[in-house]
Amino acid sequence: MLVTRTVEELSEALASMELSLGNDGALVPTMGALHEGHGALMRVARQSNAWVAATIFVNPLQFNRPDDLARYPRREGEDFLLLQEHGVDLVFAPSPEVVFPLGWVAPELDLDGLDLLWEGAFRPGHFKGVATVVNRLLDLIPCANLYMGQKDYQQCLVVERLLCLRKAMLVQLGPALVKVPTVRDGDGLALSSRNLLLAPDQLERAKGIARTWSWMKAHGQGLQPEALVEGALERLTAEGLRNEYLVFVRDGSLEPWKRGDGAPRALYAGWLDEVRLIDNESLAIA
Ligand code: AMP
Repeated sequence: MLVTRTVEELSEALASMELSLGNDGALVPTMGALHEGHGALMRVARQSNAWVAATIFVNPLQFNRPDDLARYPRREGEDFLLLQEHGVDLVFAPSPEVVFPLGWVAPELDLDGLDLLWEGAFRPGHFKGVATVVNRLLDLIPCANLYMGQKDYQQCLVVERLLCLRKAMLVQLGPALVKVPTVRDGDGLALSSRNLLLAPDQLERAKGIARTWSWMKAHGQGLQPEALVEGALERLTAEGLRNEYLVFVRDGSLEPWKRGDGAPRALYAGWLDEVRLIDNESLAIA
């Protein structure tokens, strides 16, 4: 596994990899503090690409709170081991100055309002930051397939939009976005780097989100959607979470869900003490 930190090292490594393995490669962007959720992305990418490149970059542009950026978990040594175990060919682990050098100007990206709702409303500027870094990484690592997790449902939609913009600007025909289902622990808690910030008792309370999904699935047929959301919010509060939003959208979009749209996707964000958690789940309701 090649580890690169500068654009020059990266270009050289990509050229030699393409020479020996071909052009059909995968990019898996991450912010490190890797877990088996990231592992699933690597595994799926490994199955159908000539080469797999992973990035480890805690992107300052997508943090709307300096304290969140400062305490974001970092553990590069363990990350490299996990990537190696998953057969990743190339790692790009740059500093912010390498990704956004002095004088570099971020292109204006019209995200069609997808960046303003839900997560975007609670974290102003977050998705512009995400789109900017993914756009930059795709310029640096042209690839056939881009892998992202459904855990970050709205992020997938924003990146889909970015890929359309890139196609329209003819920057690149590809890549295709491959969305990987959320990996959960045995109790249904979505794996997340931020879980590392939780003490054991907090982790237990965080599992209240999974318990609430189960409750919603069990009562989905019997309750009106409004009552289901209300009941779920009460449960989440009782579990010790400070709710930001719980909303039903039409699966695959951010459009409000209405009857006849099929199973809605429920999107949730809330705080467990000082740690903000997000999750989403597809719910079969009447
Ligand atoms: P992050 O390091 O949090 O930026 O995540 C990097 C990628 O891993 C993103 O595409 C996430 O959606 C994905 N990811 C994070 N957690 C999970 C999970 N539990 N299951 C599947 N994908 C995940």
